[in-house]
Amino acid sequence: MYGEVEEILILSPSMIRIVLGGSGLDGFRPNESTDQYINAYFIPENASYSPPFDLEEVRTLGDDQRPRPRRFTVRRWNSNTQKLTIDFVTHGDQGYAGTWAQRAQIGDRLQFKGPNGSYKPDIEADWHLLAGDESALSAISTSVEAIPESKPCSVFLVVDGPENQINFASSPNHLINWIYRSAVPNPETALLEAIRGHAFADGKFDVFIHGEAGEVRDIRKYLILEHQIDIESASISPYWRRDHTDEAWRSIKKQWLADQEMDT
Ligand SMILES: Cc1cc2nc3c(=O)[nH]c(=O)nc-3n(C[C@H](O)[C@H](O)[C@H](O)COP(=O)(O)OP(=O)(O)OC[C@H]3O[C@@H](n4cnc5c(N)ncnc54)[C@H](O)[C@@H]3O)c2cc1C
Repeated sequence: MYGEVEEILILSPSMIRIVLGGSGLDGFRPNESTDQYINAYFIPENASYSPPFDLEEVRTLGDDQRPRPRRFTVRRWNSNTQKLTIDFVTHGDQGYAGTWAQRAQIGDRLQFKGPNGSYKPDIEADWHLLAGDESALSAISTSVEAIPESKPCSVFLVVDGPENQINFASSPNHLINWIYRSAVPNPETALLEAIRGHAFADGKFDVFIHGEAGEVRDIRKYLILEHQIDIESASISPYWRRDHTDEAWRSIKKQWLADQEMDT
């Protein structure tokens, strides 16, 4: 499946929204998860092929030609217009996906598989805890928008500064806490510290925490040890790893997840 770039919007200094459309999306079937994501394939600039391509065939090409798989959350699927919205974090000139979004032109194509997904807010919970960084902003925004207005909800989002904040629909019962890296002495522990300082309400709470691997791991450990969360029902996962390309991260992720079990 592939989409054609139809709109490009600069949402903030670190986020670009790309709206895909066209007949290549005819087979797109959304699921009910609020964290649904696609596996997109970014091709090297000098590649001798372009979407749509035979994935199995191009996977056998040399390193300078092979497509690079990256996961991206569906911010919105509009079933009336058949358009797919994805919000990309831009993080400098390294990597494939962020730079693709920065260079995107109307008419460019992006091939992908999916969507997959595994989380939607538990409506039986007494309240909801959601936290993450820019990479999880789409999943968290979409999840909060699906939580009933009457249901208490505490959201923690870490971004570089106020200009990186991207607001989304929420009710007065949904407390959205923006944390700015530029305003704290240690940005890498800012999300954990904000959650640690939060007065946890009584009752059963639903958990959704995603973002940078080290930060997510520390929060996971804190929630298990200090708040005895049921890790089986919590949605907690690392979306990316600082100073690692996605390829480097995937090569160590299995061991990382195994080591993480020893934290608690
Ligand atoms: C299920 C899932 C859903 C995701 N949804 C989204 C989404 O909707 N939007 C989104 O932007 N990302 C999302 N991500 C994260 C995204 O897949 C990774 O950030 C990916 O590594 C980006 O690829 P790249 O080619 O731009 O950079 P890479 O080639 O992977 O990395 C190049 C360098 O950039 C750094 N880097 C990578 N990502 C970030 C970041 N977010 N902030 C700062 N530095 C970074 C790396 O550590 C590395 O040093 C999701 C990940 C998962 C697993």
